[in-house]
Amino acid sequence: MKMNVVIVGSGIAALKTYTTAYNRKNIDTLIVDVNPIGGLLASIGLIYKYPIAPIFIDQDAVTLFHNCNFACHPIEVHILKEGNILDKVKGFALFDVQRLWLYELAKKKIACFSLQLYECILKMLNLNAGTIRRVHDSIRKIDVVNQVVTTSQGFILKYENLIYTWPLDLLIKTITNTKSSSMLTLLNSVTARLKYVSIYIRSYIIYERIPEEKEQKLKLYFHGTRASRVHTIIKIPMGKYKALLYALTSYSEYYPLLPGIGDKIHSELRKHRIITSSTQVLDYNDVNVVYGFLNILPREVLKEVCEELRKHNIVLFGRVAEWKEYDVPSLLFKGLPQNTI
Ligand SMILES: Cc1cc2nc3c(=O)[nH]c(=O)nc-3n(C[C@H](O)[C@H](O)[C@H](O)COP(=O)(O)OP(=O)(O)OC[C@H]3O[C@@H](n4cnc5c(N)ncnc54)[C@H](O)[C@@H]3O)c2cc1C
Repeated sequence: MKMNVVIVGSGIAALKTYTTAYNRKNIDTLIVDVNPIGGLLASIGLIYKYPIAPIFIDQDAVTLFHNCNFACHPIEVHILKEGNILDKVKGFALFDVQRLWLYELAKKKIACFSLQLYECILKMLNLNAGTIRRVHDSIRKIDVVNQVVTTSQGFILKYENLIYTWPLDLLIKTITNTKSSSMLTLLNSVTARLKYVSIYIRSYIIYERIPEEKEQKLKLYFHGTRASRVHTIIKIPMGKYKALLYALTSYSEYYPLLPGIGDKIHSELRKHRIITSSTQVLDYNDVNVVYGFLNILPREVLKEVCEELRKHNIVLFGRVAEWKEYDVPSLLFKGLPQNTI
């Protein structure tokens, strides 16, 4: 199949590219991804849909999002146990990371949250998940010279432009038939420098009677020692009787993930009395965010990779492809990289 634009991935960067291409005439565009549409913003939950990761928008940026039903809450920070919270959030990794999202939240007074962030962003981009042209498959190889993507199930897609939004370190595993060995050498050397900390998230919808005066507060709990696996708990009120809970633990090569971590998190929530005998759990979910926090790389190194790939009509776009900790508004409202489409 011949396409003008093939987009690898289906997170917000991919959807933004798709809508930009769709709105220009004669641009045949196709998304290829094996993962659910929405990336980190995708919704989970059977009865109540909510974002897989706790994503907040600053109060002054909320007006840019139309009909998203944001609720802005004052933040109340609780320290369950003093210690080195920063190190623990970082999974005791020995390298520095670009942004520590959860810790940034603690410094804010107010944060805004929408249960329907993904659905609302789709609407803002004029997209309907059911009608997006998409191949639900993984990528086996990208033939750089012939500009062809082959999917795991053998689907062959010839492209004029390839927009790559998947994690940058996975690109080297799929790229083949490069024109120059210098491109491979460059990609290999950059990939070797990419490091990240992963996050395991257990989330709950709970039912409990919340005291009237505390109703609207977003509660943020930190635990800073190894005595507990969880480092951050976020409790977001959903009206009078319900709340959304996110409990997070980080892991890395320096602090591996334990088997049965979901159950461990649950018992820690009981121990810290976040979940009590009067709490009714309506739903819960577990998510593994592999690329939780990204390490810092010199911008010129990444720029060089982007420029080299550009020569072969491959464009890197988005948080994990550009290895740049964008927030949602900057991805959604920034233009695509120049001359992408
Ligand atoms: C823990 C955390 C908290 C955040 N908090 C906020 C916040 O409060 N406010 C805010 O504005 N932004 C926040 N962000 C950033 C925001 O989520 C991103 O900017 C945005 O979702 C990036 O969209 P994207 O399309 O570039 O990447 P993604 O949504 O990550 O998608 C990229 C593509 O890569 C694929 N992919 C991802 N991981 C893998 C893998 N392991 N294997 C194969 N494919 C993979 C995805 O399926 C998708 O197709 C947070 C990010 C994290 C990690």
